[in-house]
Amino acid sequence: MAEAGSFADRVKQQADIVRVVGEYVRLKKSGQNFTGLCPFHAEKSPSFAVHPTKQIYHCFGCGVGGDVFNFVMEMEKCAFPEAIRIVAEKCGIAVPRQKERSPEERKENQQRALLVEMHREAQTFFVKQLEATLEGKAGQAYLEDRGLDKEAMTRFGMGYAPSGGDALLRHLKPKCNEKLLVESGLVSRDQSGGRLFDRFRRRITFPIANESGKIVAFGARALGDDLPKYLNSPETPIYSKSNVLYHMDRAKEGIRRQDFAILVEGYLDAIAVARAGISNVVASCGTSLAEPQIKLLGRFTRRVIVNYDPDAAGQIATERSLSLLLEQDFEVRVLALPAIGNKKADPDLFIREKGAEEYLKLLKEALPYVDYLIARARQMDLTSGEGKRQAVNFLLPYVQKIPNRILRSEWATRIAQQLRLDEPVLRAALSKAAAERRSELKIQPELVARAAKPVERRLIRMLAEAQGFRQELAKQLQNARLYHGLETEKIFEALVIASLSGQPVQATEVGAALEDRDRRLLFEILFEEANEPTWEEAMSCIEALQHRRAERELADVQRSIEANPPGQELRGLLEKKQELMRRLAAAR
Ligand SMILES: [Zn+2]
Repeated sequence: MAEAGSFADRVKQQADIVRVVGEYVRLKKSGQNFTGLCPFHAEKSPSFAVHPTKQIYHCFGCGVGGDVFNFVMEMEKCAFPEAIRIVAEKCGIAVPRQKERSPEERKENQQRALLVEMHREAQTFFVKQLEATLEGKAGQAYLEDRGLDKEAMTRFGMGYAPSGGDALLRHLKPKCNEKLLVESGLVSRDQSGGRLFDRFRRRITFPIANESGKIVAFGARALGDDLPKYLNSPETPIYSKSNVLYHMDRAKEGIRRQDFAILVEGYLDAIAVARAGISNVVASCGTSLAEPQIKLLGRFTRRVIVNYDPDAAGQIATERSLSLLLEQDFEVRVLALPAIGNKKADPDLFIREKGAEEYLKLLKEALPYVDYLIARARQMDLTSGEGKRQAVNFLLPYVQKIPNRILRSEWATRIAQQLRLDEPVLRAALSKAAAERRSELKIQPELVARAAKPVERRLIRMLAEAQGFRQELAKQLQNARLYHGLETEKIFEALVIASLSGQPVQATEVGAALEDRDRRLLFEILFEEANEPTWEEAMSCIEALQHRRAERELADVQRSIEANPPGQELRGLLEKKQELMRRLAAAR
């Protein structure tokens, strides 16, 4: 795909796959490779490998593999040109202006750029309203009342949307057309379809940025008793609420460094925690967590402390998020803050009343999620059979979601003990539930059972890498048709063609021409530890293949002899048999 000399090729030459992948996966050096947990399937021990010199990655579990572009395309779910751009940007390579985009694509990009620009403009407008208008002063007073000083307002970009109903509209209108205004979600059209008006009115605004720090939406809290209390931007071409985590743009460094994230519900919670000096906090913004948000988080850490509101809705959100996080193999703890007086405490209130120190202390003591769930189950009436059944039914789905069988079993024992349940009964329920668990089958890696013989593996490796004699080796293999009939025939064929071309062999391109199982085998072979190949070794591998072929031929001849052919033919077969046996004996 990356044609020699093209921009893509240049990016590929300059990009460091370890660094690019390292932004998504935590990699550890292991021998000549770097390994980590595969981002494409759920696993507990790393089977995902990146090769720094070959500039390829491969998962020994689920079999995905390719070069830096394949990785980004898979990860960002984008097309090739977009992947080039992303890799180039990550590596600080200037991207030439695109001209060959399709007209629709160009239009969409322009539109997205305009929408981002509108949000930037709106942000400036809201901030000015908060700072410099009479109405805004009331907004400031409200924020100060909640313990937010000027410094915090500036730091988190808080603003104010005036009550007039068309202040922002009038501000933006000279610069944008109506259609785009409505599409931005900043402006709505009334029911009858005519009049335009501001979506946010008489509200404190909080800019919501995407991961790279561009404002793509707003959250807004009513200043008075207007409903809803919290109102967010609708889904737009630049914003999908399930894709964005509030504060992620500023939290990601801290999350990566500390290898865990704190997940809270609302932006005020995230702001309170961040202001307490804990930067690795993100908010799911109201609704419970969605899978894309978890994937986003998973790029930076696999450890989360969930600290949702302690009310009923918060509990439900906590439990729903737990399920999803467990499915994605996160290590989850839950922080349930104690009530303050008779008030249930969200992180914002708690930190205001009890201080950052106390919050940090509780954070460190946050319970592993199963203990949290057991504590919840224990609130049910466990004296009756019905109550116990309820408790088990409450817990089972979570236990089922643990991908690791041993862990699952440990938790079953623990639950049985804590809830005083009959363990065999619980286990029976568990294994029945496990049998129904389809997703586990899905992540079961398809085994590459075809163990290619060591000789074949070695030759394949040489064809891919032995710059000095690759071409000569390919010629010999092809002339003697030595790989015909082997299970690895297709791999050999592709590599021989590539080697004879005289161009450097690109593993990913050879792989792309192969069927999936062959590509996997090729990548596995490329990742094996191996010595520098020599021509002598190549020759002995070729001899071994010749030997194997003679053995195969001998077996064929023997079968023909046993079929009792007419005399003339039999004599010919017997001579052939003698000749083959001589050859095999000589090779020994
Ligand atoms: Zn995998």
